[in-house]
Amino acid sequence: MNPISYRGRLAPSPTGYLHVGHARTFWTACERARANGGTMILRIEDLDHSRCRPEFLSAIYEDLAWIGCTWQEGPDCGGPFAPYLQSQRQDFYRAALSRLQASGHVYPCYCSRQDVLRVLGAPHEGDDEPLYPGTCRPDPDGPPRPVPAGRKPHWRFRAPDGRTVSFVDAHLGSQAFVAGCDFGDFVVWRNDDVPSYQLAVVVDDAAMRITEVVRGEDLLVSTARQLLLYEALEGTPPQFYHCPLVRDEAGVRLAKRHAAANLRHLREQGRTPMQIRDGWVDSY
Ligand code: GLU
Repeated sequence: MNPISYRGRLAPSPTGYLHVGHARTFWTACERARANGGTMILRIEDLDHSRCRPEFLSAIYEDLAWIGCTWQEGPDCGGPFAPYLQSQRQDFYRAALSRLQASGHVYPCYCSRQDVLRVLGAPHEGDDEPLYPGTCRPDPDGPPRPVPAGRKPHWRFRAPDGRTVSFVDAHLGSQAFVAGCDFGDFVVWRNDDVPSYQLAVVVDDAAMRITEVVRGEDLLVSTARQLLLYEALEGTPPQFYHCPLVRDEAGVRLAKRHAAANLRHLREQGRTPMQIRDGWVDSY
């Protein structure tokens, strides 16, 4: 008998209505948990106060249930690793930040996103986070950087330049990303006192004993960043399964702004969950 039973998670953010791309990922996650006789956890990723809205949160419960997702632990039903709302887990993230600070894996950074883009001239292709040019990275041979008065820093993880981070994805096979090239030093704590997605997701997946993370292919590079965080925090990473993205007619991946592909809209138009599941690739 396998002593470690399968634990998967659904980790939606209430920043918009769920669309067909989310449905595909969440349905796949639930199918994999069911096939493995495992437990599914619902965790709400509501850290970005400026973008989260209560109506999106209630829609998540409704839409997930409508497409046939079920879970055994979550904000609505409790469980041994509560709370399941990230907005209530600040202490866990703060403890992880302190560990990264104490071990020297992170450094304070005073650059805004605009500063970074100005230095780079153009955003980095294929990933959401621009490759950090190293402006605030401490240089052991140089003078200490002046601390701008009255400004709070972000905390940035120092990526080990040139190191290849590899893993075997359960769907896509071998993956490899080079630190300092495919991704750079990344923010783990924002200067408005909010942990970044990268840090929160690692802390929670580890704390909730997740054994497999199922999510969209757009997060492949983030997985490499997160593997470095697991290492720095001395945690055991889960397995990963990255799902293909659902694209619109022009080949652009669906986003929350594609109103026509959102599940509420499709439901109102009379589509059934079965039709949605049978036709992930469709015109929206
Ligand atoms: N809240 C994240 C999202 O909606 C979850 C990503 C993940 O599964 O790690 O994109």
